[in-house]
Amino acid sequence: MKYQISCTRCGSQHAIAPDTAHDWDEITCTDCGEFIDTCGHYADTHGVSYPMHALNLSRGLILQMARSSRALNDGPAALRSA
Ligand SMILES: [Zn+2]
Repeated sequence: MKYQISCTRCGSQHAIAPDTAHDWDEITCTDCGEFIDTCGHYADTHGVSYPMHALNLSRGLILQMARSSRALNDGPAALRSA
């Protein structure tokens, strides 16, 4: 797997990691072989963060609950027409 990371030693923009991409696999510069990061740390810092993911999940749940509670609160009229 290829990464767009600037190498701290030679400034190259190209880095590569094994396709297995385990968390402990190393991302290394394709030009000079410098170790840059691990796949796991890179995913943590560049991927969707856990707090943001949790926030999105709770937002979805709130919307879902708002929709279902509105249906409940519509009263007998809504039940009759359904
Ligand atoms: Zn390099």
